[in-house]
Amino acid sequence: MSANFTRSEKHTWPHSGTWRPAIRDGFATANICCPKCKQIGSLEPADHQIAEDGSVSPSVVCDCGFHEHIRLIGWTVGDKK
Ligand SMILES: [Zn+2]
Repeated sequence: MSANFTRSEKHTWPHSGTWRPAIRDGFATANICCPKCKQIGSLEPADHQIAEDGSVSPSVVCDCGFHEHIRLIGWTVGDKK
């Protein structure tokens, strides 16, 4: 299973199934919102890698049982906005 997350253009927390650029420990990463339970999560650079095409590995697990390989649509390397 895999899920596509679209990029949120809002300057607030992402809505369910979307992501926002974030910086963690100096690395570009993303905050994501679970499409199932709407919990906000951060992709920790130590735990997840984001490929040039936005594919996140390994798969993302949420407390609610959501467990998918996800892709961040609109991801660009080094995006710091
Ligand atoms: Zn969830």
